[in-house]
Amino acid sequence: MRVCVVGSGGREHALALALARTAEVIVSPGNPGMPGTPVGGYPISITEIPPESVRADLWVIGPEQPLVDGLADKLRADDKLVFGPGADGARLEGSKAFMKEVLAEAGVATARYGAFDEVRPAHEFLAQLAGPWVVKTDGLASGKGVLVTDDLAEAEADVIAKLSGDSFGDAGRRVVVEEGLVGAECSLLVLCDGRRIAALPVAQDYKRLEDGDGGPNTGGMGAVSAVGLVDDGLVDRILDESVEPLVAALRRRGIDYRGVLYAGLILTVDGPKVLEYNVRFGDPETQVVLPRVNHDITGLLAEAAEGRLRTDPRATTEAGVCVVMASAGYPSGPRSGDPIEGLDRAGALPSVSVLHAGTALDPQGRLVTAGGRVLGVTATGPTIGEARSRAYGGTGLISWDGVQYRTDIAAGLESATTVGAGVAGRGRGADEAKQAQEAER
Ligand code: AMP
Repeated sequence: MRVCVVGSGGREHALALALARTAEVIVSPGNPGMPGTPVGGYPISITEIPPESVRADLWVIGPEQPLVDGLADKLRADDKLVFGPGADGARLEGSKAFMKEVLAEAGVATARYGAFDEVRPAHEFLAQLAGPWVVKTDGLASGKGVLVTDDLAEAEADVIAKLSGDSFGDAGRRVVVEEGLVGAECSLLVLCDGRRIAALPVAQDYKRLEDGDGGPNTGGMGAVSAVGLVDDGLVDRILDESVEPLVAALRRRGIDYRGVLYAGLILTVDGPKVLEYNVRFGDPETQVVLPRVNHDITGLLAEAAEGRLRTDPRATTEAGVCVVMASAGYPSGPRSGDPIEGLDRAGALPSVSVLHAGTALDPQGRLVTAGGRVLGVTATGPTIGEARSRAYGGTGLISWDGVQYRTDIAAGLESATTVGAGVAGRGRGADEAKQAQEAER
């Protein structure tokens, strides 16, 4: 089996490593950190050839933009097996207003909202809400088009900046204004074959730049995944109330969604509510989720792509922690070209993987920063505490001028045990996980 992964970031690196457990992987266009053969796995290579022209048995499309642009449709029209929704399904992420409309139709709990292309009605709607206030670009903005604030004046000013095109160009010429929800956040990645769904292990990500959830929103500065972060009963409830009705609503619209549905949720006192749906694997969550999937990932994604998802993926009892290392100036003005030191030593640490997101080779052949989020240092371990200290052991060895990373990823969760319900799939409980563990011994 040969799999073509489309994309070049940390998510695609994580996908490539997971797929290479059971298949040869070619990434288009990929990045310089990807090529090689993981221990016990198959080779990973990168290519400048566009995905349409790569020879493969399965295509896995990483980022949202090519999905929104219809790459999956184009490949399917050529009889290729594709994991990733067509442009119709990708609209869920391409337009927040469309997503909200489908959620409302499906009866999925989400924040109260309005979609606006003019300032006055948007301001009137803001005034009706109690706060905190949330203003989002309707279109794609690399995870940065969201303002959450306790200051009504700031929300009003943000509406003006977005609608004028000043802050996010065309992506902001329509805005979604929402009530701010309060509670712990979690991310659930769910595979979908058009009808059936299968949940992967739950993760939490850290969106803000600075320790203590300070600073601006980013694409994600770290993530943790472990048993016990969210109990299985709650995962089942999310699948029943937030995911299955959505898939049914998509079907009613004639959308055959074959790919991943990434639900961003907030666990409010009134129960789980959907913040957003993305149509691709989340980064950095993917970096901690995929190593925990105790199953042939190539087989799983192929099943979903073929519309015959049968497998209920199991999770290992290991915990995963990812710390993102970003370049100087991220997120407002990331600096490129800073030489990166210490990668080999970090990558040689036990249970640590260094995933590349924004890296490039300079004309002298040195590895340099080339984008905002540069590396994801991901570690697994028997507990969150162990995985966390391994990941930070890795970040401590890597450096470049102006590097930024949070020091509190997974902090406070160290003592959480990872023994127990080591499964991700719905309807499976702790007993079954223990039996599986014992069978493995
Ligand atoms: P999104 O891109 O929609 O996931 O938003 C990015 C981040 O903004 C989320 O992970 C939340 O931390 C925050 N956020 C978005 N919508 C809301 C909301 N309605 N209430 C509170 N926080 C929100």
